[in-house]
Amino acid sequence: MCYSHQLSEKDLQPLSVLPDYLEHIKGMRFFDPHVHMTSRTTDDYQAMADAGVTAIIEPAFWLGQPRTGVDTFRDYFSSLIGWERFRAGQFGIKHYCTIGLNSKEANNEKLAEAVMEILPLFIYKEGVVGVGEIGFDDQTALEEKYYRAQLELAKEANLPVQIHTPHRDKKQGTQRSMDIAIEHGLDPSMVIVDHNNEETVKEVLDRGFWAAFTIYPFTKMGNERMVEVVKQYGSERIMVNSAADWGISDPLAVPKTAALMHESGIDLHDIHLVTYRNAITAFAQSGQINEADFEKVKTVDQSEKFNGSTVLRGGQQPRMDRNAMRIR
Ligand SMILES: [Zn+2]
Repeated sequence: MCYSHQLSEKDLQPLSVLPDYLEHIKGMRFFDPHVHMTSRTTDDYQAMADAGVTAIIEPAFWLGQPRTGVDTFRDYFSSLIGWERFRAGQFGIKHYCTIGLNSKEANNEKLAEAVMEILPLFIYKEGVVGVGEIGFDDQTALEEKYYRAQLELAKEANLPVQIHTPHRDKKQGTQRSMDIAIEHGLDPSMVIVDHNNEETVKEVLDRGFWAAFTIYPFTKMGNERMVEVVKQYGSERIMVNSAADWGISDPLAVPKTAALMHESGIDLHDIHLVTYRNAITAFAQSGQINEADFEKVKTVDQSEKFNGSTVLRGGQQPRMDRNAMRIR
C-alpha cells in the first residue's frame, strides 16, 4: 500500500492564518446568552475572547448523565457562581448564569424536591440573571409540576425565565410552555423561549416573548437557516446563542453567525441586536447586568486566585503565545 499523496496548496498553508470569518466581525462584540462553559476548555475561552465574545450566560443544565444526590446540584450551582465565573474572567469574559432544575432531572421526584429546596439559596446571588434552563423535555407530568413551581419562584424573585423547549414535539411543547407561563401570570417580556426554529418563531414573537435560537451543528439550527430567519422576521426580540456543551457543538457559533449575517448583507444594526444587545436587554431585567463590568473584567491578571486556586498550573506563566510552536 502506498501512503504518499500529493500535497495540496491547502496542506501547505501556514496554520497561523486567521479564519476568514474573523475579517467580517472585526471590532464587534458579542454576548452569548446560552453556553455551558463548565464542559469547555481554556482554549475555547481564549478563542471566544479573540472572536469578540465579551459576556456570556451559563444556564444550569444536566451533566449528560443523571445526578444521584442533591449535593452534586449544590456543588454545580456553586461552581456556576464561583470557579466558572472566575475562570471566564481570567480570559476577559464576563460570566453570568441562570439557576434552575432542568427538565430531564425533574423526572426524579425525590431529587427534584430536594433541589427545589436549595434553589432559593442560589437564585438571589450576584450575577444570577434568571431561572433556567427550565421547561419540557419529554413533556411528562413531573416536568410540568417543577416547571410550574420554578415559574412561581422566578415571579417571586422578579427574575427572567430561560425556557428550554423540547426537541421532540417542539411546536406543541413550545406552545404549552408559553401557555403555562401566561397562566402563572408571567409577563412575556420576562420570558426567553430558547431553541426556536422556523416552526415556532412566529408564534413566540407574536405573543410577545423573546425568541432565542441555538446554533448547534446537526441537531438544532445551522447558521444559514438563522440568516434566513432574521431576513424574514427582523431583529426585534430575537437572540442567537451557541448552547455549546459536552456534545459536538461550537462555542464560536455567535461570532460565526454574525460573520455570516454580515456576508449575507444583513444590516450591522440588526446583527448587533441579535448577537449582543437583545440578550442584554432581556436578562438585564434581573438587575444583575452592568455593561461597565464587561470592561472591568478585560483587565485580566491570570495569576489571580480564587479560593487559593488559579487557572495556571504549577509554574505556568500567566499568558501563553498560542501561535508559538514551542509549548512552554
Ligand atoms: Zn443548554
